Amino acid sequence: MAQYDYDLFVIGGGSGGVRAARMASLAGARVGLAEEWRMGGTCVIRGCIPKKLFVYASQFRENILDSRGYGWDFGDCKFDWPILIANKDREIARLEGLYTTNVEKTGAKIHHDRAVFEDEHTLRLLNSGRMVTAEKILIATGNRPTREMGTTHVIPGGDLCITSDEAFHLQELPKRILIAGGGYIALEFAHIFHGLGSQVSLVYRGEKPLRGFDDCLREAVCASMHSRGIEVLLGCEFTRVEKRGDHLHAETSKGAVIECDQIMLAIGRQPNTLALHVEKAGVELGRRGEVKVDDYSRTTNSHIYAVGDVTDRVQLTPIAIHEAMAFVETAFKNNPVKPDHIHVPSAVFTTPEIATVGMSEQKALLMGHSVDVYKSTFRPLLHTLGGRDVRTLMKLVVDQKSQKVLGCHIFGDHAAEIIQVVAVALRMGATKKDFDATIALHPTAAEELVTMRTKSYSREPEAA
Ligand code: NDP
Repeated sequence: MAQYDYDLFVIGGGSGGVRAARMASLAGARVGLAEEWRMGGTCVIRGCIPKKLFVYASQFRENILDSRGYGWDFGDCKFDWPILIANKDREIARLEGLYTTNVEKTGAKIHHDRAVFEDEHTLRLLNSGRMVTAEKILIATGNRPTREMGTTHVIPGGDLCITSDEAFHLQELPKRILIAGGGYIALEFAHIFHGLGSQVSLVYRGEKPLRGFDDCLREAVCASMHSRGIEVLLGCEFTRVEKRGDHLHAETSKGAVIECDQIMLAIGRQPNTLALHVEKAGVELGRRGEVKVDDYSRTTNSHIYAVGDVTDRVQLTPIAIHEAMAFVETAFKNNPVKPDHIHVPSAVFTTPEIATVGMSEQKALLMGHSVDVYKSTFRPLLHTLGGRDVRTLMKLVVDQKSQKVLGCHIFGDHAAEIIQVVAVALRMGATKKDFDATIALHPTAAEELVTMRTKSYSREPEAA
C-alpha cells in the first residue's frame, strides 16, 4: 500500500498548478489538486483573458470612427456594459469548464476546497475537514491585487477603492474613474475604460509610467495618452478618499481634488501565502510573502516546490506554465530542468499596444554594452485614410561589438503579435545583419524591423 494518498498534491488551480497536475498525472503520478474558488486562476477568471476581451470591446469605437475615412457610416453606435459583462462571464465559465475537464481527463482528482499545511507531507482541506497526504507538494497559489499603499501611505478611505478583481464585475460603467499606479494593469485599464467611454485619470507616483520598460516606449505611451484625452497625473499619489453622496472625492499629494464614480488601485500584487501555514512544513517566505525557491523551483523543503506568481519571479502566465513543465521534468522524470527567465517577451495591452523582448536601451547600457540604436517612428497606413494622428514606434537595441540584437521594442497596432516572433530570433542570437538579410513583407508595419538601415545613434555605457 502506498505511504501517501498522492504522489503529488498541487495547491492552486491556475495556469501553473493545472499544467503541473496534468503533466505529472500523464507521467503516471497519482495527483490531487485543491482549488478554493474557480478553476483557471487569475489568468482565466480575473486576469489576462477577461482583460483581453475588455480590450477588444474598448477598441470598436475608435475602429468605427476610423472606418468613416474608408466610406463607412454605421449611424449612431451605442455601447451596453451589461451585455459585455454577461457575454464575458459566459465565455469565462466555458473556459473554467475546459480547465476542469482537462485536469480530470488525465486522472487527477480536483478538490474544490482550501488546502493548508499541517506538516511537510500533510494538508488539511478546510471545507471538508479532510486530511490528505502527498509525497511531493506544489504551491501554485498565485497572487492578488495589493491594497496597501505602503506603510507611509496608508490612505484614509482606501477601502472605498476597487482593484482589477472588482473591475470585471462592476454593475455599471463608471462615467469618471481614477486609476492609481503606472504598471501593466493601471495602463491597460486606463485605456479600456477610456475606450468604453469613461473619463479617465491616471495617478502615478513616478516620473513616467512603466518603470523598467525602454524609455522611448514610456515616453510614447505618455504622449499617446495625452493626445487621446486620458489625464496623466505624474509624481503624485492619493492622500485621501471619501464618499460624498453618490460620488467619491479624492485628493492627491499635489493638491488636485477630483470627484469620480470609481477609484481603482493597480499598485502591484502580493503573493497568496497568507494563512497557508507553510511554516509547519519548513518552507520559508521572502520579505513580500513570496515562497523562496531555488533555480529548480524547489522551496527550502526539498520535496515541496512552488511555481508561478506566488514565487514573485516573473509574473506572467507563460512563465508559470514554463516553470510547471520544468518542475514535472525535475520532480517526476528524473531530468532536472531550470526554467528559463531570459528573453521573455511581454506586452502591455494599451491602445495601441506596447510589446517588448530583450533589453531596454537603459538596461543594455547598465549591463556594460556599447549600443547602436535603430529607431523608426511612422504613421501606419491604416491611419492615412482614418485621419487620426497615430504613430507607431519601433526600436532595435544592438550590441556594438557582436552586432547581436539585444532588445526590440514596439509601440503600435499588433505589437504583441509581432514581438512573439521577434522573440524567436532574439533567442537564437540574431544579429542586425540577420534582420537586414531578411526579406521584408510589404505592406506591413513589421517590415520596418528589417528595413531600418540607418543607425539613429550610438551610446557608450558610461553615458547611461
Ligand atoms: P506592476 O508591478 O506592473 O505595477 C505596479 C505599479 O504600482 C507601479 O507603477 C508602481 O510604481 C506602483 N506602486 C507600487 N506600490 C505603490 C504604492 N505603495 N503607492 C503607489 N504606487 C505604487 O503591477 P501590476 O499590478 O500592474 O501588475 C502585476 C503584474 O502582473 C505585472 O508585474 C505583470 O507581470 C503582470 N501582468 C501582466 C500583464 C500582461 O502581460 N499584459 C497584464 C497585467 C498584469 P513604481 O514603478 O514607482 O514602483
